[in-house]
Amino acid sequence: MKIVRYKSDGRVSFGALDGVSITPLEGALDALKPARDASPARAASAELLAPIAPGKIVAVGVNYRDHALEMGRQLPEEPLLFIKPSTCVIGPGDAIIYPPQTKLMHYEGELAIVIARTASKVSQADARKHVLGYTCLNDVTARDLQRKDVQFTRGKGFDTFAPLGPVIETEIANPDNLELTTRLNGEVRQHGTTSNLIFKCDFLLSYISQIMTLLPGDVISTGTPSGVGEMKPGDTVEVEIEKIGCLRNIVAAPH
Ligand code: MG
Repeated sequence: MKIVRYKSDGRVSFGALDGVSITPLEGALDALKPARDASPARAASAELLAPIAPGKIVAVGVNYRDHALEMGRQLPEEPLLFIKPSTCVIGPGDAIIYPPQTKLMHYEGELAIVIARTASKVSQADARKHVLGYTCLNDVTARDLQRKDVQFTRGKGFDTFAPLGPVIETEIANPDNLELTTRLNGEVRQHGTTSNLIFKCDFLLSYISQIMTLLPGDVISTGTPSGVGEMKPGDTVEVEIEKIGCLRNIVAAPH
């Protein structure tokens, strides 16, 4: 199932996207089912939002060997974690706003895990039971500020710095072998596969859940392959992951 979150007639709902129509869903995240007394919406006339509004995004740095090399960083012995605030999230088609504080804003195409049920101290073997599905995330980064500050909060934390979507795919049997492509203005800039993740999805969920409780709707962003680069106002950036779809956003100057 491809889960979307959408606005129709002023109401925000989860839905199951089936080509041209969206079937409204109701219930808890780990038990979404078709809503009673609700009629399908036409996908073309619904406004797609980010497919989830996470409480937190736990992101993983330098989790691909080729990206570690391009950044001149050593391979990590343990996952390097940081948090992106929930206020970073925007949906497909929304504008990434170029903050006036940076002179070097980068895209980072990433596979993101969406949590379905509360996960605390779960084993790798039990990790999948806590997953709703997978989506695309663009871990937008003010690279100059990230380098200047050393820690990541400012460089990774601006409003609009986490485009998410377009759908949460619930039927991915193996998240560790998905092709990921990032395009800037139609040109391929990143092309990798999640089989090259240093720390894989199940391991990450288990590892993070030993530190902090993951709540329904929380997102884990698994890191980016090599080829990160600059975006400027007027650019269009796309993160496409096999079996999920294409997350497309534009870059806009600050108002
Ligand atoms: Mg990243």
